[in-house]
Amino acid sequence: MDKAVILDRDGTLIFDSGYVYRVKDFKLLPGVIEGLKSLSKQFIFIIITNQSGIGRGLYGEEDMNKFNEKLINELKKDNIEIKKIYHCPHTPEDNCNCRKPSTKYVKEAEKEFNINLKDSWVIGDHTSDIELGINSGCRAIYLLTGHGEKHFKNLEKSDIKPNFIAKSFLQATEFITRNV
Ligand SMILES: [Mg+2]
Ligand SMILES: [Zn+2]
Repeated sequence: MDKAVILDRDGTLIFDSGYVYRVKDFKLLPGVIEGLKSLSKQFIFIIITNQSGIGRGLYGEEDMNKFNEKLINELKKDNIEIKKIYHCPHTPEDNCNCRKPSTKYVKEAEKEFNINLKDSWVIGDHTSDIELGINSGCRAIYLLTGHGEKHFKNLEKSDIKPNFIAKSFLQATEFITRNV
């Protein structure tokens, strides 16, 4: 069985200017390459991302696929492999069964890649990422990058407790390394 780090995309791996989908706006966040490299011997990487911009009609699946391809190729240059990107295209009002914190895609990835969730981690900049981690039986790290700072009050008010709150992606991966 493999251990996984389940990654959020926007605000975690890449700069999130809000519903980012144009390849020209693609920009990795600091420390992402270094951080993923440091974990790549022990973990496989999966991305689960809420893309309500599709449901809102701001961009299409094709735009998102091109953007995801760019991300995958940029990481590949540094020998970092993303096994799969799962996305929810719906808006919260759609009440679908795949939008985070739904564990649908974690369960799919668990089967598809034979993942041991107990030894896996979720990293994200949103309360729903932490809920996803907890609901999946993983450990979860809240990032203050992306929307993390803005939404931190929501996290504090809730009874959702991440295993760690990180100021940067690198801080998150260092925490994982110390706590595998
Ligand atoms: Mg995010
Ligand atoms: Zn959905």
